[in-house]
Amino acid sequence: MKKNYLLTPGPTPLPPEVCEALSRPIIHHRTPQFQAVLKEVSESLKDMFQTKNDVFILTASGTGAMEAAVVNLLSWGDKALVIEGGKFGERWTELCEAYGIKPIVIKVEWGKDLDPDMLKQYLEKESAIKAVFATLCETSTGVTFDIRKIAEIVKETPAVLAIDAISGLGAIDLKMDEWGVDVVVSGSQKGFMLPPGLGFISVSKKAWKLVEESQCPKYYFDLKEAKKALDKTDTPFTPAIGLVIALDTALKMMHGEGIENIFKRHRKLAEATRAAMVALGLELFAPDAASDAVTAVKVPRGVDGEKLVKVMRDDYGVTIAGGQSEMKGKIFRIAHMGYIGEFDIILGISCLEKVLKKLGYNFELGAGVKAAQETLLK
Ligand SMILES: *Cc1c(COP(=O)(O)O)cnc(C)c1O
Repeated sequence: MKKNYLLTPGPTPLPPEVCEALSRPIIHHRTPQFQAVLKEVSESLKDMFQTKNDVFILTASGTGAMEAAVVNLLSWGDKALVIEGGKFGERWTELCEAYGIKPIVIKVEWGKDLDPDMLKQYLEKESAIKAVFATLCETSTGVTFDIRKIAEIVKETPAVLAIDAISGLGAIDLKMDEWGVDVVVSGSQKGFMLPPGLGFISVSKKAWKLVEESQCPKYYFDLKEAKKALDKTDTPFTPAIGLVIALDTALKMMHGEGIENIFKRHRKLAEATRAAMVALGLELFAPDAASDAVTAVKVPRGVDGEKLVKVMRDDYGVTIAGGQSEMKGKIFRIAHMGYIGEFDIILGISCLEKVLKKLGYNFELGAGVKAAQETLLK
């Protein structure tokens, strides 16, 4: 027998309550029953986004919400600044290019946070920047960017700040209104404990002015249509009815735990995971800006990184993630976001230890689990 455990930075495991909600018979969306759910989740999402602005629910994976941000804010020929420190930062650049928007890229070394002075310099040097795109949790490197600091700088300029919080929201603090973030996008399959299929986007008043001027071609992701519909507690197209109903369940669970407790839990799991890796003699990939949602670890010399991930998954049913793009085979990533508790992490670490031993890496068996337990006992 092999039991399966998911410790990947999306999709993340589903709580039984969410599975139950997903298994219910479908209802029609133009009904008072569905409208009641839509109304409830639209309000409840605002708490998770820490905003009073509308949060639109799109039927798409998270990238759809990123695309919605680009096509609704900007027009052909506009200039945008992209803070790019990993694969998902690159996605902002690629989206801009796809729509004829000129991305000016601030390259941040993978595994590092942004030097705020660099952002200041770019904003002073380049005129007519309409939007700054950045990432809360750069899932490919396990870095959390200091969005509060970035927002402080962008707030002083005419540009709007749009944040990819797809893997960050519901795991790491992002105070949209308080910090002055203009656009936040997220998705269902990371912190929100749902299957993939929903994208979320919230837009500030400052950014909505750009939405009204934007000339980018768009149809499915037209937020003006989404707003017209939401004002009537409706959606422009058939929503992913089942996922929206399951979202209601997930949000109730999140509210029950409390947003501050959710952040605390993620922080604790991250600290335990990092302590375990260090105790195993492994090197963290982003020690100075480590994310509370996912931990990236360098594959030790002499170990085949791709094989490590494959053996854990295929022989023991524990799925973690390898590295993406240029980090393929060089790092592995253990997620601790969403429906993850202390003993999921302990289990993941113990499996990692077993497979590292089998692959010939030298360390004291149990050292990682011990360090994690000690951290969790604090
Ligand atoms: C997962 C992820 C995405 C991509 O989302 P999809 O749902 O796969 O489209 C984008 N950005 C970040 C930071 C992510 O973690």
